[in-house]
Amino acid sequence: MNTAIIGGGAAGLFLAINLKELIIKSGRNAKTMQVTVFEKNDKILSKLEISGGGRCNCTNTFEFANKNGSFFDDLAQVYPRGHRSVKKMFHIFSPKDAFKWFETHGVKLKIEDNGRVFPQSDDSHTIINVFKHYAALYDIDIRLNDSINSLSRVEHFDFICVACGGLLHNNLLSLLKVEDSIIVKPIPSLFAFNVEDSGLRALSGTTLNGVTLMFPKTKFKVSDSVLITHKGLSGPAVLRLSSYAAVFLNEANYNTPLLVNWIGRNNEDATATVNHCKILHANKMIMNINPFALPQRFWEYILVRVVPNRLNIRYKDLTEKEISRIVDAVCNDKYLIKSRSNNKEEFVTCGGVDLSCIDINTMRLKADKRLFFVGEALNIDGITGGYNFQVAWTTAFIAAQEICNIYLSNPVQ
Ligand SMILES: Cc1cc2nc3c(=O)[nH]c(=O)nc-3n(C[C@H](O)[C@H](O)[C@H](O)COP(=O)(O)OP(=O)(O)OC[C@H]3O[C@@H](n4cnc5c(N)ncnc54)[C@H](O)[C@@H]3O)c2cc1C
Repeated sequence: MNTAIIGGGAAGLFLAINLKELIIKSGRNAKTMQVTVFEKNDKILSKLEISGGGRCNCTNTFEFANKNGSFFDDLAQVYPRGHRSVKKMFHIFSPKDAFKWFETHGVKLKIEDNGRVFPQSDDSHTIINVFKHYAALYDIDIRLNDSINSLSRVEHFDFICVACGGLLHNNLLSLLKVEDSIIVKPIPSLFAFNVEDSGLRALSGTTLNGVTLMFPKTKFKVSDSVLITHKGLSGPAVLRLSSYAAVFLNEANYNTPLLVNWIGRNNEDATATVNHCKILHANKMIMNINPFALPQRFWEYILVRVVPNRLNIRYKDLTEKEISRIVDAVCNDKYLIKSRSNNKEEFVTCGGVDLSCIDINTMRLKADKRLFFVGEALNIDGITGGYNFQVAWTTAFIAAQEICNIYLSNPVQ
C-alpha cells in the first residue's frame, strides 16, 4: 500500500512518521507501506522553523488557570473555531500524548508561562532534526520542490492526505476537485491592528498590562497586555481579539472602531484614584505623579491629549471636569482600526475544510474515503500559545492511526 502526503509541514511530517511507527508496532514490516511527502518548497518544515520566534512553541499543557491566574476557562477560549471537535480528538491523541511523543523521540521540553511548551534548547531545529532523523530511518520519501497541482499526480495512491496548511493562498482543494461547499472561506487570524494616531505611534515599544479591548456593540472583549507599535497596536490582547473577532473584522474590511480601557478599571474606581492622588499630592505637578502606574511617556500622552494647556498645573488645581476627561481618556479611549498587519508574526488561517464534512475519529472526508485532511487546512484555529501545533499533531496522529487500521485489516502481502 502507499500513502501520499501533500505538504511537508508539521502535520505532514508527524503523520508520515507516526504511520510508519504504528505499522512497526503492529509487527509488520514498515516497508510494506510506502509513504511519500510532496513539499512545494525547497525544504520541509519552513513554518515550524520560524515559529515561536525560532523557538517553536510546540504545544501547551492546557492546564488553564482561573481568571485571577489571568488565563482561560475552557477550550472555546483557545480554539475560537473547532473547539468541540478538538475536545473529542484529544481523547484519541491529547496534548499529554504529544508531550510524551516529543520527549521519547529525543526532544527535551520545558514549560513556560501560560502553559506554553518549548524545546529546552530554545531552538526549533531540535524538532526539525528529530523529524528528519525519523523520516530517514523509516525511508519516508520526501520530494522537495514538488507542488501537487493536479489530482492525477496522486490518484494512484491508496491514501491521499492533504496537509498543505492554511488555505488562504492555496488553491489545492479545487485542484483535488473537492467541492467548494466543503470549504469555510479562509481568512486571516492572529494579526496586529494598524491605527492612525501619530501620538500613539510615537510610543512604539511601550507595553501596558491589564488593558481591556473591545469592539463596540459586539461580544468581543479581551483583557491582557498590549504592545504599542510603529503602526498601531499588537501584543497578546490584540492577537487574541483578532482571533476571536476574525470573521467580524473581515466583514468590516479591517476598518472599525476599537474601545480601549488602558487600566481595565471602571470610571468610578479611576475617578476615586485621581481624587485620592489630589489629596495625597496636592502640590505636585500632574505630569510628575501618575495615578494609574502607567508608563510615564504614556501618562504624558494622555495629558497632552486631554489637558494640553494645563500640563504644568498642580494636582490641587485639577478641576472636576478635567479629572473626568482624564478618566475618560484612560477608561473609554477610542481608536479607528484602519487595516490589519501583514507581517505574519503569528499568522494563522481561520476557515478551511468544514469539520462537518470530516469524520473526526479518522480525519477522512466523508464524501471520499481515500482523502484525509489534517492540520491547518481544517477549519480549526487557535490563539497563540502552542495550540495550533497541537491541532497539527492530533489530527495527523488520528489520520495515521486510521490508515494503519485499514492497512492492518488487509491480509499480509
Ligand atoms: C510566523 C509564525 C509563527 C508561528 N508560531 C507558532 C507557535 O509558536 N506555536 C503554534 O502552535 N503555532 C504557531 N504558528 C502556527 C503554526 O505554524 C501552524 O498552525 C502549523 O504550521 C500548521 O501546520 P500544517 O502542517 O497544517 O501547515 P504548514 O506548517 O503550513 O505546512 C504546510 C506545508 O504544505 C506545503 N504545501 C502547501 N501547498 C502544497 C502543494 N500544493 N503541494 C506540495 N506542498 C504544499 C507548504 O509549503 C508547507 O510546507 C505560527 C505561524 C507562523 C506563520
